[in-house]
Amino acid sequence: MNLIDLHSHSTASDGLLSPSALVELAASSGVEILALTDHDDVSGLEEACIAADKCNIHFIRGVEISVSWRGHTLHIIGLQIDSDHPVLISGLAELRAGRKIRAERIADSLAKAGINGALEGAQRHAGNPEILNRTHFARYLVEAGYASSMRTVFNRFMSGGKPGHVKHEWVQMGDAISWICASGGQAVLAHPGRYVLSDVEMCELLGEFRSLGGRGIEVVTGSHRPDQYPVFAKLAIQFDLLASIGSDYHGPGENRFPLGRLPELPSGVTPIWRDWPEVVV
Ligand code: AMP
Ligand code: MN
Ligand code: MN
Ligand code: MN
Repeated sequence: MNLIDLHSHSTASDGLLSPSALVELAASSGVEILALTDHDDVSGLEEACIAADKCNIHFIRGVEISVSWRGHTLHIIGLQIDSDHPVLISGLAELRAGRKIRAERIADSLAKAGINGALEGAQRHAGNPEILNRTHFARYLVEAGYASSMRTVFNRFMSGGKPGHVKHEWVQMGDAISWICASGGQAVLAHPGRYVLSDVEMCELLGEFRSLGGRGIEVVTGSHRPDQYPVFAKLAIQFDLLASIGSDYHGPGENRFPLGRLPELPSGVTPIWRDWPEVVV
């Protein structure tokens, strides 16, 4: 069985490592198949692909798209995408334009809470000026001494109802799925256990996701507790969805799991890589 990690971030979004440094770390950690899935951006894929060729690791082109569904923010991963596809490129550009306005609103909200210079501070932590997200603000707030760790900064500032959290309308879930499908990719619902939904809403989400062309859900992810793995394995089977696995790696010191060090998928699920020629099961 290959060592597979299908969810990771580089400096093209909110990761700490450059795409090539990330691939080198994955290779030296024994990962055989890696997907880079930066938020709303594919600009790191080329560098990662070249690095992967050199390190002899199989590279999967990916992206993690922010969507709005019934007022909740969800993340949809695209795997095996054609990152040059015009439909995907223009959709992501639209999302990034919205991000810019949102970042200014986050900074205004922090300023009202007495924290000045957050926009410039966050920008200093961003590797890609087009992707300024809450992680960059959080890193700035830790650096400036407003909180001692990323965990506390999210609890105190960047989560719902707190300064530093603003409502934002991302794209519709169906749009993100259609961009991924248009570019030949597979759409995977990222870390479903992170969304605050009732059991009924979760079932409605999975049904809708499937009927819009979604193919899989993350079952084992750095964002799930171990007791959530069997829960989402069961839901994957119930909704005829394939199962994915990924650390959601953001960089040294910022993760529950190092790259590729995840438990195996629970038995009974069908892995998203079922038909991928590069995977030897
Ligand atoms: P944004 O797309 O601007 O809403 O930022 C979302 C990013 O913030 C996620 O991709 C995570 O990297 C990070 N994040 C969200 N919640 C937390 C948390 N509780 N602790 C650490 N990082 C978080
Ligand atoms: Mn992130
Ligand atoms: Mn995510
Ligand atoms: Mn992620």
